[in-house]
Order: sequence, then C-alpha cells, then structure tokens
Amino acid sequence: MAKKGARELVGMICSVCKSQNYVTERNKVNMAEKSEGSSKLQIKKFCKRCMKVTLHKETAKLK
Ligand SMILES: [Zn+2]
Repeated sequence: MAKKGARELVGMICSVCKSQNYVTERNKVNMAEKSEGSSKLQIKKFCKRCMKVTLHKETAKLK
C-alpha cells in the first residue's frame, strides 16, 4: 500500500484538563483550502478525566 501523506493523524486534547483523549485523522486535501485562519479543529467530546463533554482541540500531529 502506498502512502501519499494526504491523511495525517492528529491528537485531540481536552481544553480543560489538557489530556489527549482522542486521535483523529485529518485530511489535508479537504481541510487546507476551506479554513482561513482557524485551521484548528475543535470538537466537543466526552472527556473521561473531566467526566463531562468538553471542547477538544487539535494538537500536534502524530507521526
Ligand atoms: Zn478533560
């Protein structure tokens, strides 16, 4: 299987406790064009450390 590097893994960290709870795939091809300025993903997800739904932000890309 050939990897073209169009997709990359990014971690999602809780904006409250900063723990990385999720890893998601980001598609560079789709996302690069649309977003001006705010290229960071922000998703509301359940944080098991906070025990509630919090805002999760994209963090450094995983290799
Ligand atoms: Zn949290």
